[in-house]
Amino acid sequence: MRLVLLGPPGAGKGTQANVLSQKYGLLHISTGDLLREAVKNKTPVGQEAKKFMDKGELVPDEIVTQMIIEKFKHSDISPGFILDGFPRTKRQAQILDQALAELNLPLDMVLYFETGEDTILKRLTGRRVCQNCGYNFHIVNIPPKNEGICDYCSGKLYHRQDDKEETIRNRIKVYNEQTRELIDYYQIKGLIKKASGDLEVEALFSILQKIFKETRLI
Ligand code: AMP
Repeated sequence: MRLVLLGPPGAGKGTQANVLSQKYGLLHISTGDLLREAVKNKTPVGQEAKKFMDKGELVPDEIVTQMIIEKFKHSDISPGFILDGFPRTKRQAQILDQALAELNLPLDMVLYFETGEDTILKRLTGRRVCQNCGYNFHIVNIPPKNEGICDYCSGKLYHRQDDKEETIRNRIKVYNEQTRELIDYYQIKGLIKKASGDLEVEALFSILQKIFKETRLI
């Protein structure tokens, strides 16, 4: 299965990508995670990307597409993959189409998680991320067993710099201005399936499984 998860920040793309990749043995590729890793390691790309990420702006297309192409080159993507947070602009989508056409591995489906602004704000202001393994918790919806500590690797949990309310509002604006048009882009290609990003994790996951069955992806 080759999937793209599309939707605003806080739509649950990362969480569903985690669940789906485990269930179906797919490679989970998150450009946000790749960029945060580069920031943590203070690489030249990370230092450049940080300037945009801290403000909730998009990192330039050249940086992000290069990252994805490298990832494709150095991973076995033949069993399938989930792209989480990529593409985010039309240019990125075109470059992705071209790269996948060259590999003869076209996309099967683009899952669009339609999500209300209330849900986005509640999810992101309460989100806490493990600084070691990257697992996402939520102070109300998915609290860790011990406050501030990851259930899986005992790493410390942190509140992402870009999950502060003002930055979230900018990320929503950026999504509406630069990413939302991808719904039409993929609609024309007949790839879009819509599901509600307002649903809780398990409810959304069962809907996705239903979609996969109906379209014979599983
Ligand atoms: P995410 O973890 O997907 O919410 O991404 C966090 C931040 O990383 C975004 O707000 C952007 O600054 C940057 N980012 C992640 N993916 C992309 C992308 N495909 N294009 C441009 N910037 C991105």
